[in-house]
Amino acid sequence: MEAMEMLWTYMLEDMKADRIKREIENSPTRQQAEKMRDFILEQKKKYDQIQEQVAIYADRKDAIHDALARARDQLDALMRRFSDNPPADADAVRDMIAEAEKCQHTLAGYEEELSRIKREAASFITRCDKLRQETAKARKKFNDLKEQYVQESAEKKTLHAEARKAADAKAAGIPEQLMSVYTRVKRHIAPPMARLEGSQCSGCNTSQPSASLRRIEAGTEIVECESCGRILIR
Ligand SMILES: [Zn+2]
Repeated sequence: MEAMEMLWTYMLEDMKADRIKREIENSPTRQQAEKMRDFILEQKKKYDQIQEQVAIYADRKDAIHDALARARDQLDALMRRFSDNPPADADAVRDMIAEAEKCQHTLAGYEEELSRIKREAASFITRCDKLRQETAKARKKFNDLKEQYVQESAEKKTLHAEARKAADAKAAGIPEQLMSVYTRVKRHIAPPMARLEGSQCSGCNTSQPSASLRRIEAGTEIVECESCGRILIR
């Protein structure tokens, strides 16, 4: 069956074109570039999170400053009251001391929070610097990879176009019905054709029933492998 041999030759070119197409799609350079892009996005997210935290801390710092000023005023007022209007008895002295201690305790709490915020702010600056440096490096790498990929894929795309053209040329003269079976089988398995080796399909090494072998031998119809579905050819 001459048409079967034509289809076989077509398949070789068709598979070659498909292989180049897959290479373009699965290019390691492209995958690396995509990974780098994801990394940059991740870094950006971290950076934004820190900036959000910085804004929250800045608000909190302002609030603490106000609260500190109020606590200091309170303490000053207490001291003034103490000198202008000294407590008359031991109970009044105790009350006043308790009030002063409460004020000082509040002040100490705010001051501690302020110094904690300062420490955190310093660590934010270090982390942001590191993120910026890493991101700049990653961005450069991404741009290099992208350029490399554009170059590589341009060459591969030309090769693919040539291979596809060669395949199309081989398709000329193949009966339409045969080609449509080929297309259907290819959707499930590639390569979609296999040579017989003895009584076995060389695609999946399954022995074919003698009825199939006779039909292939007669060469008058299309026979598909009972196991993998490939179009069998002698
Ligand atoms: Zn098979």
